[in-house]
Amino acid sequence: MKSLLQRWRAGREARVVARRAIPDTLWHATLAGLPFLARRHEADQAELRRLASLFLDRKEFTGANGLVVDDAMAVCIAAQAVLPVLRVGLAPYDGFVGIVVQPDEVVARREVLDDHGLVHAYDEVLAGEAMEGGPVMLSWRDVAEAGTSADWGYNVVIHEFAHVLDMGDGMADGVPPLPSAEARRQWLAVLMPAWDRLGEQVACGYDTLLDPYGAQGPEEFFAVACETFFVQPNELRAEHPALYGLLARYFQQDPAGFTGG
Ligand SMILES: [Zn+2]
Repeated sequence: MKSLLQRWRAGREARVVARRAIPDTLWHATLAGLPFLARRHEADQAELRRLASLFLDRKEFTGANGLVVDDAMAVCIAAQAVLPVLRVGLAPYDGFVGIVVQPDEVVARREVLDDHGLVHAYDEVLAGEAMEGGPVMLSWRDVAEAGTSADWGYNVVIHEFAHVLDMGDGMADGVPPLPSAEARRQWLAVLMPAWDRLGEQVACGYDTLLDPYGAQGPEEFFAVACETFFVQPNELRAEHPALYGLLARYFQQDPAGFTGG
């Protein structure tokens, strides 16, 4: 039996979902453009739609550099952002409110300190960025191409929201909050060798299923692995069964099985 608090929460959420209902035509058009959502079971799609309504209610979208974020754009982002938290709800996203949508990729000036104490400046081109407690930035051009870029395992929304999950414990280290030290040990036992292997393959110039960008560090490896897990699950399961299993347990989803379970 549900507690009073659970029933109160469920009632409040139901009112928000009713107020923020995504119109049928818009929802179906959104799914039609995103094959990795279109092929999910009906029950999953209904839950995605419910969570997307709650997401739209809790987050603030801001268009940058003259971009106007319309309903279709916001729904497209929301529908993808809630996919990783389909089984657990939106609580892992409570640490931030703002989503800044840029028309295109942005160039960020970076500085690094080398071993000799010298500062090196360089430009980094970003399709998205997630900062702890700060807004999530997304390039609309990249979001809009999510339907076709799924063919090569690329998805900027899932990438950035994977970083948000990773940073849930305050550290961007490729390990999201886990229930125990043992769970963390098991996580690292799968993640780190897979990250090492990607680094070796990239260094050798091999074509890899996982985005070579993941070789940059465990936190980027986790983010690119999440992209592939959700948009090319069969390929990930075939090539990296242990990594697929780790993510399937963590997300409580089995997208390659098409079971939705
Ligand atoms: Zn990243």
